[in-house]
Amino acid sequence: MCGMRGERGTLARADVVVVGCGVIGLTAAICLREAGVDAGIVAARLPHATTSSVAAAIWYPYKAYPEVSVLSWGGRTFEVLEALSDTPESGVLMREGVEIWRERVPAPWWASAVPRVRRCDDDELPPGYIDGYAFATPVVEMPVYLTYLMARFAAAGGSVEQRTLSSLDEVDARVVVNCVGLGARDLVDDTTMEPIRGQVVRVRNPGLKRFMLDEENPEGVTYIVPRSGDCILGGTAEEGEWELEPDPETAAGIMRRCTHLEPRLTGVEVLEHRVGLRPARPEIRLEREDRPGEVPRIHNYGHGGSGITLSWGCAEETLRLVQEARYG
Ligand SMILES: Cc1cc2nc3c(=O)[nH]c(=O)nc-3n(C[C@H](O)[C@H](O)[C@H](O)COP(=O)(O)OP(=O)(O)OC[C@H]3O[C@@H](n4cnc5c(N)ncnc54)[C@H](O)[C@@H]3O)c2cc1C
Repeated sequence: MCGMRGERGTLARADVVVVGCGVIGLTAAICLREAGVDAGIVAARLPHATTSSVAAAIWYPYKAYPEVSVLSWGGRTFEVLEALSDTPESGVLMREGVEIWRERVPAPWWASAVPRVRRCDDDELPPGYIDGYAFATPVVEMPVYLTYLMARFAAAGGSVEQRTLSSLDEVDARVVVNCVGLGARDLVDDTTMEPIRGQVVRVRNPGLKRFMLDEENPEGVTYIVPRSGDCILGGTAEEGEWELEPDPETAAGIMRRCTHLEPRLTGVEVLEHRVGLRPARPEIRLEREDRPGEVPRIHNYGHGGSGITLSWGCAEETLRLVQEARYG
């Protein structure tokens, strides 16, 4: 595990301090340290208590903009995650599955970022669906993956201080990297940040291997993501909704819709109900901010429903911006 300090300790002055320890901050901090930059993390919540820990999590661009950047950061992240699927302790698996539709649709807009996407054969579509696309994509078991990322950060010499900041000016560093997700609403007064509430049910895996996505289900976005021992069943995408308590009726609706799509889920054991607030923004903010006489800031937040999908591409861009800020 990473070296950790409590609320009262002070982070030794690092060259670069990353604020936030969800998938975005942790991945950026790893990229920095592995490139030889002296980077530490300060975060209110440790990885297993973040939104990132709730994610399904499949490589799939969802509610993140602009599309052109999502394609490039997403394409790069796909490559890194696919390579990580050869490392069992990473928790990344390559899975084939389908996205299904009740009408004929063109090929997905993100198809160029994914090596193998094909139109479904008719026998791959559940009753009532007339079109779909099959593709192999990384499925990331977040509890395992976040532990792997923390260990990788520690192995690169990184440490995490647990502390809630009320201003980025509290950080003592040559460059500050802001990866606070939805926290940017308060921390940098970004009122364009809005939650998109997602509720999921975690169930025991009855032997499923293929994922299923039904984004346009009239009863609500529906997905089945089989992991090694369990499945994440979703979901909801409630814009502007902050409630973190799981709603039993919503959970019953998720179970009903998923069982309809995949009858082998009938009567399956429910392990957990969870809610996360996707950090949504009209456009992801990944840029350098210079203020006269102050340390430069690199902002990297607002990834909506695609934080895992974009994490490595955004981390590499963050490294480039940090290097420019330090030496450029
Ligand atoms: C139900 C659900 C399913 C999802 N499925 C997928 C999926 O399949 N694929 C995918 O790519 N994405 C998915 N997502 C989206 C993904 O989870 C998010 O995009 C991602 O977790 C955002 O990561 P983050 O690091 O920016 O934010 P977070 O994980 O929220 O981390 C933010 C960090 O900043 C810290 N912080 C905040 N404010 C402060 C402060 N004032 N001081 C100090 N620290 C602070 C927090 O404590 C935390 O450490 C899903 C989300 C949900 C809710």
